[in-house]
Amino acid sequence: EWLLICSNIKDFKLVNDLFGLEKGNEVLKMEADLLKAQCGEGSVYGRTGGDKFAICIPKEEFKEQDFMDAIQTMGHAFNNDLYHLHIYVGVYEITDRNEEVSIMCDKANLAIKTLGENYDKSIAYYSDTIFHDTVAEKQLVGDFDKALAEKQFCMYLQPQVTSEGKLLGAEALVRWQHPKRGLIFPGDFIEVFEKTGLIYRLDRFVWELAVQKLAQWQKDGRDDLYISVNISTKDFYYMDVYETITSLVETYKIIPSTLKLEITETAIMTGTAGELEMIERFRKSGFQVEIDDFGSGYSSLNMLKDAPIDVLKLDMAFMRNLDNENERNNIIVESIVELSKKLNISVVVEGVESEKQVNFLKSIGAEVIQGYYFSKPIPTDEYEKLIEE
Ligand code: C2E
Ligand code: CA
Ligand code: CA
Repeated sequence: EWLLICSNIKDFKLVNDLFGLEKGNEVLKMEADLLKAQCGEGSVYGRTGGDKFAICIPKEEFKEQDFMDAIQTMGHAFNNDLYHLHIYVGVYEITDRNEEVSIMCDKANLAIKTLGENYDKSIAYYSDTIFHDTVAEKQLVGDFDKALAEKQFCMYLQPQVTSEGKLLGAEALVRWQHPKRGLIFPGDFIEVFEKTGLIYRLDRFVWELAVQKLAQWQKDGRDDLYISVNISTKDFYYMDVYETITSLVETYKIIPSTLKLEITETAIMTGTAGELEMIERFRKSGFQVEIDDFGSGYSSLNMLKDAPIDVLKLDMAFMRNLDNENERNNIIVESIVELSKKLNISVVVEGVESEKQVNFLKSIGAEVIQGYYFSKPIPTDEYEKLIEE
């Protein structure tokens, strides 16, 4: 019958920093008045700290639309070029009146967290899934140090082949052999580690596995094989990516061009940590730089213009659309392949699952293919059997 509602102002510290404490106080008073006006007789409301407020209101009295309209009006009243006032709201429906109020607030605030840095959505409702996801994430983060120390992370390799099926090299994809949960895929932990600043330690570990493998192959005379590794956007903020990779290469004495570096479109385009310059340095040192998930972002063509890259990995969505008989999609794929040739950039097509796709790719001269049609990512020893064939 009751809701516990919490609010939080986006980047409130900026208000104080940009306009002074006086103005900050004014904003808080404005919000207090607004919330007060939304509450009827039986409600309880207050400021729980900083820029956070909470209200406890009978469910039937809460009119979401009116509430959000009021908040938006307040936002508009304040907006200027420097700062847009944006208030996030989390709603928890009280199911157990004996639950501690602080826990109720935590749950409403958890709902707010799911909104991320979103501007177009300002309200979220708590659900048990949110709770379980958060607990699961906390567990993964808590397990990280031990997992890294005990080498629970391992490198799988997914072959990259010619359209005729000849093996060229591989992409390194991490897997987590968790003692309790079994094999976990990157989709379940990469994002969490990116959010919590752990990713760079994992990536450095995977890069080292790749470099060690290359060193071993090169000792056996296989200079022709390459491994392509993923670099997270976040890595650039936590470590000197250039320094880390070049020192690995020097330590294990491998040929730099056999270690390919996959960077996403977003990392290159935001470029705040000097990514563009770093790409230049990598290429001067003999590495090949690849742009991952090409065509999934908003700035793909601009990026081709500005970023000196060697390889473009076509986003998997293009292959999915090919199956849907989307003629425009096919024209775009063909044109990207043609365009890349003119720019001297090689293309790797990802997510290739069917013969039909392979035939299409052959017909347009796309040379390098990675996908389930040829092979899933496999453990390194299985991959080594393919090399020997
Ligand atoms: P990605 O870099 O785009 O890697 C390709 C993903 O597509 C892999 O998923 C691969 O298993 C999957 N895939 C390959 N062929 C096919 C296909 O034919 N059909 C379909 N539907 N999928 C295919 P995976 O291994 O689960 O990795 C997911 C993502 O996690 C990767 O996407 C990458 O962004 C990230 N990731 C994986 N390993 C690492 C790592 O060591 N470091 C970092 N930073 N990210 C990693
Ligand atoms: Ca990749
Ligand atoms: Ca990719």
